[in-house]
Amino acid sequence: MALKLYNTLARGKQEFLPLNPPYVGMYVCGPTVYGHSHLGHARSYITYDVLYRYLSYIGYKVKYVQNITDVGHLAGDRDVGEDKIQKQARLEKTDPVEIAYKYETSYFDDMDRLNVARPSISCRATGHIMEMIEHIKGLLDKQKAYVTKEGNVYFNVRSYKEYGKLSGRTLEEASEGERIEVAKDKINPEDFALWKAAEKEHLMQWPSPWGMGYPGWHIECSVMSNKYLGETLDIHGGGLENSFPHHECEIAQSEALYDKTFVRYFVHHNMLTVDGSKMGKSLGNFIILKDLFKKTDPMVLRFYILQGHYRSPLDFTDEALNASAAGFERLKNSIFSLRKTVTDDFQNSDSISEEDYPDIKRVKEDFLSAMDDDINTPIAISVLYELMKISNVELSSDDKDMNKLALINRLATLFAEEILGLKIGSVRSQSKEDELIELFIEMRNDFRKNKNFAMSDKIRDDLKGIGIILKDGSSGTTYSK
Ligand SMILES: [Zn+2]
Repeated sequence: MALKLYNTLARGKQEFLPLNPPYVGMYVCGPTVYGHSHLGHARSYITYDVLYRYLSYIGYKVKYVQNITDVGHLAGDRDVGEDKIQKQARLEKTDPVEIAYKYETSYFDDMDRLNVARPSISCRATGHIMEMIEHIKGLLDKQKAYVTKEGNVYFNVRSYKEYGKLSGRTLEEASEGERIEVAKDKINPEDFALWKAAEKEHLMQWPSPWGMGYPGWHIECSVMSNKYLGETLDIHGGGLENSFPHHECEIAQSEALYDKTFVRYFVHHNMLTVDGSKMGKSLGNFIILKDLFKKTDPMVLRFYILQGHYRSPLDFTDEALNASAAGFERLKNSIFSLRKTVTDDFQNSDSISEEDYPDIKRVKEDFLSAMDDDINTPIAISVLYELMKISNVELSSDDKDMNKLALINRLATLFAEEILGLKIGSVRSQSKEDELIELFIEMRNDFRKNKNFAMSDKIRDDLKGIGIILKDGSSGTTYSK
């Protein structure tokens, strides 16, 4: 089976065929760096991290470009309001460059903890002002844009016939969002800013042929993706809520200049809600990753996010997160048991083939076909559990097949760590505390085997007394702290 991705442009799943295999150019809209990253960022970048890992696994050489928006994203999202970074600089009584750098560092720190691989190229909008000016000049030469006497430059959406092809919105619908504040110098209300004239007190401004100013929000993504990946990208990723106007505007800007398809596959992930509501600072349900990581292992969050399909809405609740924590613990414990048994001699043995083990072969095929089917991580995770079930049966056998266990270990590593990016760790990296708990579990099992239930219950209750809860399941005993 070949990889299929849901392409928003086609409104359906399509076989993924890059323009110049084995190379794949992938661009994902990066964060606007004016605050610490929140749950929504985790969902977004984990989604594309898994896509990136899977494309690499199936043999593509992926160049993954992600921007850092450090100028031009206005509070109103639609060409009005204060620049988000400048506003934060005012609140923190510092300058915008410091704000952008501070939160960019914070973003990468959070992503590292979530085991999200760094993009091949991370590019800042402020580092590409010259290229943006050149792009805008090109659009003006082709009469796709116009300069107003105020010194603003707008893209004339009526000059680009296919505007709306991504979101399916007509021009009339497109202008509805502009009802509140429309910049008065636009020809059509749905036109969008490529360049904005800056007032004197605006802290971030650059000279341009149209006077001192700063770029509009959308132009950076067209310019940087085209600069690093060429005029046609294989994949463009981002949040569904950005398909309009942001991605629609990106398409217009690039295609109007180059007369070439901008993006072959537009991949959008769905929104994340908290307790059924959209996350918002004013609603009191805004979850900053750094706060969450104080009580939750980042890998549990990663596991939780991957238990949902990226195109489905994901509702975050404490109960659901706790269920994921227990599930992840179970998975880790199964893998630990496996790794304890499989010795180093076997761990590197590549000569063992799944062809000799039809049950393992089938599990591998199931995992890969789940991933091929539009990166269906919830199914892939359920297949991983199946693999661990086979592992547990083999581990409890008196006559263990070490070759089979080594093969399972290799696949568990491939599925969980390399493709899904879940850091499991080795048994050796467990803390002394974990090793001691494991020791108690083994002692308790021995007592139970000998029907000494008074002692086995005492171990369970004493551990509970210090906050360690044992759970007996079909795959053995697990614990949570
Ligand atoms: Zn973008």
